[in-house]
Amino acid sequence: MSSLETRLFIDGEFVAGEGAEETAFDPARGTELARVASASAGQIDTAVQSAYRAFQRWRRTTPKERSRMLWAVADKIEENAARLAEVESLNAGKPRRFVEAGELANVADVFRFYATAVRNMPGVAADGYRAHTMTSMLRRDPLGVIASIAPWNYPLLMAAWKLAPAIGAGNTVVIKPSENTPLSLLRLAAILNEVLPAGVVNVICGNGPDVGQPLITHPLVRMISLTGDVRTGRAILKAAAGEQIKRTHLELGGKAPVIVMKDADLDSVVDTMREASFYNAGQDCTAACRVFADKAIADELTDKLSVMIGSLVYGAPEREDVEFGPLISAAQQERVAGFVERARASGADIVAGGNKPDGAGFFHEPTLVRAPIGAEIVQKEVFGPVVTLTEFDEPDTALSWANASEYGLASSVWSRDTSAALRLANDLEYGVTWVNTHGVFATEMPHGGMKNSGYGSDLSMQSLLEYTQARHIMVA
Ligand code: NAD
Repeated sequence: MSSLETRLFIDGEFVAGEGAEETAFDPARGTELARVASASAGQIDTAVQSAYRAFQRWRRTTPKERSRMLWAVADKIEENAARLAEVESLNAGKPRRFVEAGELANVADVFRFYATAVRNMPGVAADGYRAHTMTSMLRRDPLGVIASIAPWNYPLLMAAWKLAPAIGAGNTVVIKPSENTPLSLLRLAAILNEVLPAGVVNVICGNGPDVGQPLITHPLVRMISLTGDVRTGRAILKAAAGEQIKRTHLELGGKAPVIVMKDADLDSVVDTMREASFYNAGQDCTAACRVFADKAIADELTDKLSVMIGSLVYGAPEREDVEFGPLISAAQQERVAGFVERARASGADIVAGGNKPDGAGFFHEPTLVRAPIGAEIVQKEVFGPVVTLTEFDEPDTALSWANASEYGLASSVWSRDTSAALRLANDLEYGVTWVNTHGVFATEMPHGGMKNSGYGSDLSMQSLLEYTQARHIMVA
């Protein structure tokens, strides 16, 4: 293991944090990996001031210049993929082979997509709307300093989803990784430092209340972009309605329904759920975690899922054979186990798994629970390797259950009758609906939710536009 970078990245320099220390764990072994000193109040201010100064120059760079730099960042991410994957895998407990080949490839792809997109920003110049002699122009200008707040489940990928469109559009950023997983982003900072001018991206570490809150309330921050919990989303909305009105972008929780009609290809459902439900130990806001199955096929699907779950391989992330690793923390492990225990106590059928294995590390068995729609485990975001199955009489019942959720992020519908599936998909109140698949992302397409899953889009041209201000210039 090469040495870990634990210093903050402010104004193009790595500097020791002056605030309280947070511990980053190796969740597969339950041991301490590193201590990372948080940013002090003064360092938070220095980072924002640096971003603000850098913005005055960065906003005047051309799309072509920014594009070239985003492209260079992507190249360097690929060159350094092994080093980045090593620390991401260790600190987030992700199977190493998936990180390097999958997640980091996506990180590089996101930078490349925005390298191209920034040169295609849709501005418009038109003749006079009020008089023939006048010309109206629509400019898409950057906003200023963006505070990005990232979660622990995909530390680098979520950071990339925020950084690439924000800086591509001409903004500068102060980003705070989760206190659980700061290490990979600090390593990425060294790469960014080779390409970007000082201050365009600053990385400060620490927890939400002590570092996140002062960052988002800083008067020079113009927009706050969060991927995180609903509760954190509420805190950010309040902070955004203080002395300054700030733009917000909130990617929050989810509880994805998987609606399986009686004519669905059940083997395909099960094959897809192997990854869509259990990748990252189910710590994914789009995880295929609650199946609504037509009563005609509910037993057969339960059996097939149970066999698949029994064959899943989980364990330490450096192993070549594992499909998923541990949960992120002891607290998350307790949380997941608590949901399963309460379901068991309330009479739900624990069909597969259901236990916390003995030994070190924050693991939980892959689990299938058959429970009625009102059960807590069917309604609340568990964020672990746990799938529920609830049977329905009519597709409309499944639709109403899905739409009654507080969340509206991801969903899927399974049927050999594509028109019937599409009719259901059209009525689902979810930011994304997959038909006969689940959990597949395209950088070109927006990802975002509705209701308590938040609002705003990551990925796609849509996200780039969110980091801009549409301005009308009229020339007489
Ligand atoms: P979290 O909300 O606990 O933490 C997210 C980030 O917010 C961390 O960096 C944390 O330090 C910071 N934070 C917490 N309180 C803050 C405050 N008051 N002010 C500023 N920053 C604050 O979430 P998590 O546990 O890291 O991540 C899991 C959650 O993220 C789940 O609910 C999951 O569904 C959601 N998520 C959503 C998406 C999506 O695209 N919608 C993607 C991934 C994860």
